[in-house]
Amino acid sequence: MSQTAPSPNRHFIYQIIEADLASGKHERIHTRFPPEPNGYLHIGHAKSIVLNFGLAQEFRGLCNLRFDDTNPHKENREYVEAIQRDVRWLGYDWGDRLYFASDYFEQLYGFAVELIRKELAYVCDLSPEEIRAYRGTLTEPGKNSPYRNRSPEENLRLFQQMRAGAFPDGSRTLRAKIDMASPNMNLRDPVLYRIKRGVVHHQTGTEWCLYPMYDFTHPLSDALEGITHSLCTLEFEDHRPLYDWVIEQVSAPSRPRQIEFSRLNLQYSVMSKRLLTRLVEEGHVQGWDDPRLPTIAGMRRRGYTPEAIRNFCQRIGITKSDNLVEMSLLENTVREDLDARAPRRMAVLRPLRVLIEDYPEDREEWLQVPNHPKDARMGHRAVPFSRCLYIDRKDFSEQPPPGFKRLVPGGEVRLRHAYVIRCEQVIRDETGQLVELRCSHDPDTLGKKPQGRKVKGVIHWVSAAHAQPATVRLYDRLFRAPIPGADGDLLADLNPDSLEVLQGCQVEAALAQATPGSRFQFEREGYFILDERTEGGTLCFNRTVSLRDTWEKRQQS
Ligand code: ATP
Ligand code: MG
Repeated sequence: MSQTAPSPNRHFIYQIIEADLASGKHERIHTRFPPEPNGYLHIGHAKSIVLNFGLAQEFRGLCNLRFDDTNPHKENREYVEAIQRDVRWLGYDWGDRLYFASDYFEQLYGFAVELIRKELAYVCDLSPEEIRAYRGTLTEPGKNSPYRNRSPEENLRLFQQMRAGAFPDGSRTLRAKIDMASPNMNLRDPVLYRIKRGVVHHQTGTEWCLYPMYDFTHPLSDALEGITHSLCTLEFEDHRPLYDWVIEQVSAPSRPRQIEFSRLNLQYSVMSKRLLTRLVEEGHVQGWDDPRLPTIAGMRRRGYTPEAIRNFCQRIGITKSDNLVEMSLLENTVREDLDARAPRRMAVLRPLRVLIEDYPEDREEWLQVPNHPKDARMGHRAVPFSRCLYIDRKDFSEQPPPGFKRLVPGGEVRLRHAYVIRCEQVIRDETGQLVELRCSHDPDTLGKKPQGRKVKGVIHWVSAAHAQPATVRLYDRLFRAPIPGADGDLLADLNPDSLEVLQGCQVEAALAQATPGSRFQFEREGYFILDERTEGGTLCFNRTVSLRDTWEKRQQS
């Protein structure tokens, strides 16, 4: 018996871990997910979450949630809370291992003092611009800072004063003393600490005015937590020598290994927190949980399931090569998941009244209708049929295009789960607006084929007296370009039709009992979720995804 469940994809990181366990390098693996609380999590983060928490689960190891909170300007509690909610919703549990890099500020300070004592760090008085100018370029070596050879005593004294708030922002930094001529720019005496006075940190308040940089904080936080495999995205590959340098030069309690993988890029969406923040703050979407955003909170409101998101993250795999994943892969994964689990309902989004003239006025039939065509365990529900119904306007046409199989004047159509009806008369108001169809029905067609003729079309409907009014929001892709902003202007690529709100929809009676967050397939329309937020008591549904991928077709027409 193997200790671990078989993995669907044994990617290169999986194999490294397997080998480290087999060789006895580690008895137990320990990973972490390290978000910066400066925005909401998105589907790219989900890839990292599924990787880190997933590996820990598979190999019976541990995974920490650690906030990488070293930049108080852009971080806040709202983000800290939203991130925890989202990781939990995705199905992961960090147990009692919720950490903040800011918890380590005192220890990190100690490590910095250690570097100063070893003459491996110095206080530098160059301004940020000067530091940049001294750094050199990819082809030219940098120049040593004139402050590089300060004595450890002077450096210690200045560093303490920096901590005490004696110097203004930007006037001094603590820098590692490595090599200004290194071909790796990250090793050209990188800044380890900067001064930020007068900002309130969401965890440490005003206790600190000295903040450690990511490249110093991250490896040491990993080491302090006993992380064995520190998984990050490819842009940190060039930082790995610095990651290792920091750990080697101080008395770090453990030696984590950084391994990089490629980030997720998804068509028709943006993933950078800077751009997402802009879309939210400038009002191009309605908040971080707008169902059009690729945020976890947005996808939750959109109706995506955690399972679908996890499946998607498994399917895209883990590699080292940059790639752009098709939006249709995500949407198909969601469809597949919802197809299996979403009970079917009928909902008429653009109602047109239908009067069945030969159906008795006082009659009402409760039809037993299966909740799922392929899964009997999902049971049945009663759907009321009566003389006055609603069908969708799109299911009726007076000038039908070729191949139109739905209702036309004088033609027949089957009402899903009910009778075959014939359109006898079209009623218009004085302005010529279509208001109602007068129809007849064939009473012998309930659950039976009609005699002596073929009726091809099947349409959905609701009983007018029993239906519930509802608002339905049809969401589509937020951007119409596969790589938004590729031509320089992100906003020009926004899809003007990304949201269509339909008011006055009529949905079947059974939906009155639905609880917020429930998901359904509206027959022939797509998958929908009952929004967590109601608008004045009206049922409000969000379309998660259409039944089929019609994007390419719609773009061509
Ligand atoms: P941004 O560049 O937009 O600021 P970030 O990568 O800095 O995003 P963090 O909060 O630091 O955001 O990310 C936390 C973790 O999630 C990191 O380990 C990061 O590598 C990973 N991550 C972020 N975006 C992606 C992505 N698109 N694909 C895979 N992993 C990602
Ligand atoms: Mg980051």
